[in-house]
Amino acid sequence: MDETILFNALIIAWLALAAPTFVSLFFVTAPYGRHARRGWGAGMPSKLGWVLMEAPAAVVFGACYVLAEGKTITAGVFFLLWELHYVHRSFIYPFSRRGGVKRMPWAIVGTGLLFNAVNAYLNGRYLFVLSGGYPSAWLGDPRFLAGLALFLGGLFINRRADLALTRLRRPGETTYRVPHGGLYRWVSCPNYLGEILQWIGWAVATWSLAGLAFALWTVANLAPRARAHHRWYGEHFPDYPAERRALLPGLW
Ligand code: NDP
Repeated sequence: MDETILFNALIIAWLALAAPTFVSLFFVTAPYGRHARRGWGAGMPSKLGWVLMEAPAAVVFGACYVLAEGKTITAGVFFLLWELHYVHRSFIYPFSRRGGVKRMPWAIVGTGLLFNAVNAYLNGRYLFVLSGGYPSAWLGDPRFLAGLALFLGGLFINRRADLALTRLRRPGETTYRVPHGGLYRWVSCPNYLGEILQWIGWAVATWSLAGLAFALWTVANLAPRARAHHRWYGEHFPDYPAERRALLPGLW
């Protein structure tokens, strides 16, 4: 069968699946980190889990780039932006997380791996092959420039916020503390806010359905989890700042 037909069917199914996922994650919080609980089967060391979950995004997208023929400079820029995020997320970030030797359920690692592999295939295959290639002039298009600014701004916010969380613990420590400073002044999860902005930026910069699907999935995963984190902080810290919101400063 023609790959375009398969690709189109997959992207429609993927877009359709984001909505029920978004709704159901408000009722069932993914059981890892502070929301880990019994009843989700066997697990593995969480650092290994993070590498296994995230590496397919770096590898599958990288393979799509390498296998594509007649690549433009724009393709190279998309490749660098994606890998700037995913090489760090897959191979550096897991080892910077502090919190002792936690375990992550296989169910989470499996669904995370699938999520990343599908997103990487959809984005990589579309950008480098099925789109017919982005011309070099796309790098001067206002959509690319606005999306790039949002992508880099989101990446900066995400990295800073994740680093602030790392610094709340000494190596091996598992305690939770109230984060302060930066965007933590306004929201409980600036790392999630940064991640969402980053992939909205990607959707704009690539002006593609594949990019849009990834942005929607990121919202579907992280908005309900931000709500769950926010509620958790309120339950565990009686003096938790009342003006702080879950994800959107002053709003939600
Ligand atoms: P969290 O904010 O839940 O945790 C990040 C790290 O900080 C963990 O090691 C956690 O420890 C620790 N931590 C969190 N809060 C505190 C605190 N108050 N005090 C001390 N330590 C704390 O993020 P996630 O683990 O859910 O996600 C990690 C990264 O992955 C984020 O950048 C996120 O944006 C990204 N991500 C992206 C998704 C997507 O759909 N694109 C989906 C999921 C994550 P512990 O593990 O012990 O809780």
